[in-house]
Amino acid sequence: MKETRTIRVELSGRGYNVLVGQELLSKAGALAESLLRKATVPVVADANAWTHHGETLIQGLTAAGKGIALFTVAPGEGSKSWTELEKLTDWLLDQGVERGDHVIALGGGVVGDLTGFACAILKRGCGFIQVPTTLLAQVDSSVGGKTAINTQSGKNLIGAFHQPSLVLADTGALGTLPLREMQAGFAEVIKYGALGDAAFFEWCEANAKAVLAHDIDALNEAVARSVEAKARIVAEDERELSGTRALLNLGHTFGHALEAETGFSDQLLHGEAVAIGMGLAARYSARRGELSHDDAERIVQVIAAAGLRAETSALGLQCDGARLVEHMRHDKKMDAGTLPFLLLRAIGDAYMARDVDLADVAAFLDEQLQSEVPA
Ligand code: NAD
Repeated sequence: MKETRTIRVELSGRGYNVLVGQELLSKAGALAESLLRKATVPVVADANAWTHHGETLIQGLTAAGKGIALFTVAPGEGSKSWTELEKLTDWLLDQGVERGDHVIALGGGVVGDLTGFACAILKRGCGFIQVPTTLLAQVDSSVGGKTAINTQSGKNLIGAFHQPSLVLADTGALGTLPLREMQAGFAEVIKYGALGDAAFFEWCEANAKAVLAHDIDALNEAVARSVEAKARIVAEDERELSGTRALLNLGHTFGHALEAETGFSDQLLHGEAVAIGMGLAARYSARRGELSHDDAERIVQVIAAAGLRAETSALGLQCDGARLVEHMRHDKKMDAGTLPFLLLRAIGDAYMARDVDLADVAAFLDEQLQSEVPA
């Protein structure tokens, strides 16, 4: 049994702990005891996460004398909807949830985002505890307080900042996660190294295979260091006002265009899009002469080493660069006619460029769409 690591997200008056380690689900009741005021705890769970880990969570809460009221959510992005939000908030009201209560969210980013948003608006804000069960949710979405649902106009366009009171990242729960989801989550781990920590990037190069093989030391290290990075950034710029938090969007502008072109479908998971997007941001930085070609290729290579598609051309898209740029024009980050791009000066040194010419991006993407996919 490895030691549990506690990472503090420092936010004045609203700081909270993120616990990273094994067997946290089976101790959830004790770990969250000070937050759980009532005998019955409302739990919102992704159906797959519940199948694999519901029993352990029940044990963990029972051991602390707590019962469960369960609301299950169908897996998939479709559950981040107005319809599901309405069902969930009605259910929480039926359960008599009050502002001082805490709701547990068990699952990936979908359940975390939906539950977090429901808790942000329930009686103008009740508490919630994130129990993330995907790698992406453990390293990214469960920490930082961004909550949202999707609408016909796009992803995550309706939401709120609402911080959890506690995050329990049980790395043992990742044992049941499909490899493809592990790989998509690992893209976000690489991102922390690429944007701000060259030593951690090197660690990712050396340990990608161990993480994906669920080596518990490697997994704990990957999650803990990612959470430390995110906690630092969120503490500095909780609401993405100063630009620091925007660095977390490395790879997202390119990735978002690819997700839009593939219809936000299973053809390309979010983390997979971020991975290709990071490679594109690196190569585009090299094209502008700001990053060495060698470092750009190191980024592409660590993505490929994790078994992720690293080349845009590997997606087989039937479109040109101009069409991808058109998707970018609908990006949330579009600001009075210009689109800020996160680019790299070095591995571990991302910055926001506001002078990017979208016609040049389109020409670059044309080249990338046609490039040879390495065997
Ligand atoms: P997800 O929640 O859809 O989970 C992925 C799949 O894994 C689902 O099929 C789910 O049923 C399954 N699953 C979950 N835990 C499992 C387990 N332990 N074993 C087996 N299967 C399991 O996807 P995700 O990648 O976790 O999150 C993506 C979502 O997160 C997107 O909606 C994205 O917008 C959001 N997101 C939010 C933030 C934020 O800051 N709030 C950041 C990044 C992404």
